Amino acid sequence: FRVKAANSDGIWHEKEASVRLLIRSPWWATGWAYGLYALLAGGAVWGFIRFYTSRIQQQQAMKLSRREAEQLKAVDELKTRFFSNITHEFRTPLSLIMSPVEKLLRDNRFDEPTQQTLALVQRNAHQLLRLINQLLDLAKLEAHHMVVSPMRGGITEFVGHLTESFRPLADQKWITLTYSADEPAEEYLFDADKWEKILFNLLSNALKFTGSGGSVTVTLSINPDPVATDVSWVSICIADSGIGIPPENLPHIFDRFYQVDASHTRAYEGTGIGLSLVNELVGLVGGSIRVESQPGVGTTFRVLLPVQPTSANPEAPTVIVPDKAPSTTAPLPTVVFSDSEPVADSQTPLLLVVEDNADLRNFLVSSLSADYRMLQAADGEAGWHLTRTELPDIVVSDVMMPGIDGYELTHRIKTHPDTDHIAVVILSAKAAHHSLMEGLQEGADDYVSKPFHLDELQLRLRNLISRQQKLRDQYRQQFALPGRSRSSVDSPHTTSRINGLEDVFLRRVYELLENHLNDPALTVDWLADALAMSGKTLHRKLHSVIQLNPHELIRYYRLRKAADLLRAGHSPSQTASLTGFKTPSYFTAVFKEYYHKTPTEFIQDDSGMNRA
Ligand code: ADP
Repeated sequence: FRVKAANSDGIWHEKEASVRLLIRSPWWATGWAYGLYALLAGGAVWGFIRFYTSRIQQQQAMKLSRREAEQLKAVDELKTRFFSNITHEFRTPLSLIMSPVEKLLRDNRFDEPTQQTLALVQRNAHQLLRLINQLLDLAKLEAHHMVVSPMRGGITEFVGHLTESFRPLADQKWITLTYSADEPAEEYLFDADKWEKILFNLLSNALKFTGSGGSVTVTLSINPDPVATDVSWVSICIADSGIGIPPENLPHIFDRFYQVDASHTRAYEGTGIGLSLVNELVGLVGGSIRVESQPGVGTTFRVLLPVQPTSANPEAPTVIVPDKAPSTTAPLPTVVFSDSEPVADSQTPLLLVVEDNADLRNFLVSSLSADYRMLQAADGEAGWHLTRTELPDIVVSDVMMPGIDGYELTHRIKTHPDTDHIAVVILSAKAAHHSLMEGLQEGADDYVSKPFHLDELQLRLRNLISRQQKLRDQYRQQFALPGRSRSSVDSPHTTSRINGLEDVFLRRVYELLENHLNDPALTVDWLADALAMSGKTLHRKLHSVIQLNPHELIRYYRLRKAADLLRAGHSPSQTASLTGFKTPSYFTAVFKEYYHKTPTEFIQDDSGMNRA
């Protein structure tokens, strides 16, 4: 604030006075405040834009997920429709397989082996039909097309009859099957079709997962509902003394396609459909199911199903219980085909079939026994044992087997020195490329996918055998049997013969012979020991690789070497000792027997020929 003064004459003073004043802005007009305003305005704009875009995004996402759900539903419906259509389509040809076969079986016009083949077809067609029906039921349940249709009938009799139909299977597996119901044979209304499906699945599981000597007990009781007068509850308890289910797996067993053991090496066949179907059917008829199990002790399934007195619907149709147990569950005696005479000649190739399905195993054995000597094993472990003890020419193995699977079996065969020469054919229901690759990687010689044509398998086996024979001939030729022809004279030197060999086993044998030839104690037993093999295995293996027995091989090897040494200028007596003959006279005798000339004559002829 500056002040300049003037006097009354209007003359201004030169100097001025000043006071320095500082006027501060109010808080709302400071730079900070403006900054804040700008920031707030910016934030508001940003927030609005965010809000707006996220709303648009949300709306879009909602629209998208609605559309996705609709599409999924449509695809699902399509899948279910396709699924049930195709299953339906399966049923027609299947019925046209079953009915004619049934008719042929009834006619009784065929001989025993043909009847048995027909029975095999019938049994497997039945099994396929049951599976297809289960899939169809699942599809129906999913589409809510399955309805409860009560019928009138005696519950005790119905359940008893169903249990009884499993008697043949139980007898075959040496399982004690008991049924107890202390209820009067009164009639009720219940959905017999659903009940049959529920009980059938539970009973087949109980028998499937129980070993020989075990027991399966079915107990039935009927109790009136404590409140409702027109409902009674049937409690059916199916207890087995089988393998049981581990506690951690129990919560999942009703899930679709769930199997406690779903590995390659599982011991029990199945699809994991049964219990999920049971669960849904029990729910559909308004019942409940509980399971208790202890591994190694057994499993108990308790089903509680509602029934109504017949008075609730006097019009309901009557359940027809056939007077004979249905044959579907009855196992036929293991089929033994005998349409071809098995061959016994030891020159015939030996074939081992490793397959856990008894029907298929028997079928293969019988179909191939005209051309091969056959061995069979029901699982990988037994297959491996037989492979080692019998050294077959070819092993035909399934992939999925209890214990060790087909890949592991192939791996063992191809990596064990006793068995690595054996050809392996993998037979698998998995046609997928990677499973084929897995088999071939383990060293399998061939891979045939199921269902296979018998003639294709036969052709492939024949090719393998002829390949093995060619190899054998080649090794034999390389070995150049002495005394056969002049070729022995022209053949290359022993060491190069060893080095050129592809077969590791033969190379090892030749090396051992080469290094210990001057030892008269070189015997078959010694050789077997050095190769860490039993005498029998050595014999079989040598025979299948080069078609010579160990005795012949050692002797021929000595004689071959002797010819080389004589040609190189050694005297007969030197040669005799270098090739492990005890005395020169014995050497001369043996030499003459094979070359048809004495060692001395051999030297003369040889030098004569060289001069010529
Ligand atoms: P699967 O076709 O394999 O029998 P399920 O749905 O019928 O399919 O059964 C599912 C799984 O529950 C089976 O794979 C088995 O591991 C187990 N399970 C069912 N019933 C029994 C039983 N009685 N004893 C032992 N395990 C059982």
